[in-house]
Amino acid sequence: MHYDVIVIGAGSMGMAAGYFLAQSGKRTLLVDSFNPPHNRGSHHGDTRIIRHAYGEGVKYVPLALKAQELWNDLEEVTGKQLFLPTGVLNAGYEKSDFIQNIISSSKTYSLKLEILDSIEVNERWPGFTLPDNYIGCFEPTSGVLKCEECIEAYRELAEQNGADIITNSKVKEILIHDERVTIKTDDHTFSADALVVSAGAWSGNLLSMLGLDLPLNPVRKTFAWFDDKEDIYNNQKYPAFSFETSEGMYYGFPNIDGAGLKVGRHDGGETMNPDEAIPEFDELEKDATDLKQFLKHYMPSTQQLKYGKTCMYTVTPDEDFIIDLHPNYSNIAIASGFSGHGFKFSSVVGQILSELIISGKTEQDISPFSIHRFS
Ligand SMILES: Cc1cc2nc3c(=O)[nH]c(=O)nc-3n(C[C@H](O)[C@H](O)[C@H](O)COP(=O)(O)OP(=O)(O)OC[C@H]3O[C@@H](n4cnc5c(N)ncnc54)[C@H](O)[C@@H]3O)c2cc1C
Repeated sequence: MHYDVIVIGAGSMGMAAGYFLAQSGKRTLLVDSFNPPHNRGSHHGDTRIIRHAYGEGVKYVPLALKAQELWNDLEEVTGKQLFLPTGVLNAGYEKSDFIQNIISSSKTYSLKLEILDSIEVNERWPGFTLPDNYIGCFEPTSGVLKCEECIEAYRELAEQNGADIITNSKVKEILIHDERVTIKTDDHTFSADALVVSAGAWSGNLLSMLGLDLPLNPVRKTFAWFDDKEDIYNNQKYPAFSFETSEGMYYGFPNIDGAGLKVGRHDGGETMNPDEAIPEFDELEKDATDLKQFLKHYMPSTQQLKYGKTCMYTVTPDEDFIIDLHPNYSNIAIASGFSGHGFKFSSVVGQILSELIISGKTEQDISPFSIHRFS
C-alpha cells in the first residue's frame, strides 16, 4: 500500500507528528514495534515535567511556550486534563549555569519566576530542606504532563483524522528509490512519498540504514515512587521540582492521586542496547540507594520506597536534540536524541515534523538541533 507519509516510531514525537500530518490531509501511516503508549521506550511512568524558563538554555524557551500552547489546545479538543498546573521549583547554586539560564530565560521572555532563598523555600513547602547556599526559582505557570494520556490523545485524534496505525511491527528495512521510500517489517511492505524517523532509543540503527552515523547513546535510567504517609507532598500544595545538587541532577513530582512522591536522577546511567532487556530497578542496591540519599538530604520526610521502574534516554554529546531533514533526502525528517528532556516538547516537535514534510521548512528556529553540527 502507498501513503503520502510513513512515520517510523509512534511514541512521543511520532504520534504527535502523525496527528499533525493527518490533520493536514496527508495520507499517513504510523508503524511501531509495540502498541503506544507502552513501557518499552522513553515515554512511560505517568508524568513528565514541563518547564518554560529553561535551565538547559534560553534557545529552548520559544519551543517550550509553543509546546504549552499546543498541549492546551489538545486538552480543549479532547476535553481531557493532560496538564496539571503544579508549578515547578528549580533549585541549585545561584551561580550554576542551570539556575543562571532559568533566570535569563525568564528575563528575556518575561516569564513569571519567583526567586527564593533557602529559608523562603523551606518555609513555603515544609517537605523541602534546601541547604543555605542553594536558591529556588519557582515557576508558577509550569507543571506536569500526563505522558501516556498525551500520547493516547494524539493517537485518537490521528486515527479520527484518517491515519492508519500498525502496531507490534518493527521496521527492519528502509529502501529509498526514485524519491519514494519503502519500509519492511516481518509481515508488511509499505511505500510512501515521505518518511519521518522518530524511533527514540532505536533511532541509531534505523538512521544507519539511511547512511547516517549519528552520536546517539541509549542510556538506562531509573525512577521510583516513595510513600507520602503524612500527605506533605500532595500536588494540591507541592510543586514538581528539578534540583541541580552537588551529588547530581534530580527531579521529581508531587504525590498525584495517591501514587506517592516520584523521584528520578537525570544525569548518569549506563549505556545499553535497546534491543536487549533493560535490567530491572534494583530495590536493594544502587538504584534505590541513590534516590534515598537524595531524599535524605533534600526531602527527608519520606524514605519508604513503594516501587521503581526503568526507562531509556537517547543522549547526544551536547544533550541538545536532533530535529532536521535528512542532509541528502529532502523527503525524510528526523527527530531523535531528546537526551532525557524531550517529552514536554513533543507537541511542537510533532507540528515541526509535519511542517518539514509538507513544506520543507518550519516557523520554529530549529537551527540549534541541526544534524550538521555533528559532521
Ligand atoms: C525516566 C524518564 C523521565 C523523563 N522525564 C522527563 C520530563 O520530566 N520532562 C521531559 O520533557 N522529558 C522527560 N523525559 C524525556 C522524554 O520522555 C523523552 O525525551 C521522549 O519521550 C522521547 O520521545 P521519542 O519519541 O524520541 O521516544 P519514544 O517515546 O520512546 O518513541 C519511540 C518509538 O519508536 C518505536 N520504534 C523504535 N524502533 C522502531 C522500529 N524499528 N520500528 C517501529 N517502531 C520503532 C518505539 O517502539 C517507540 O514507541 C524523561 C525520560 C525518561 C526515560
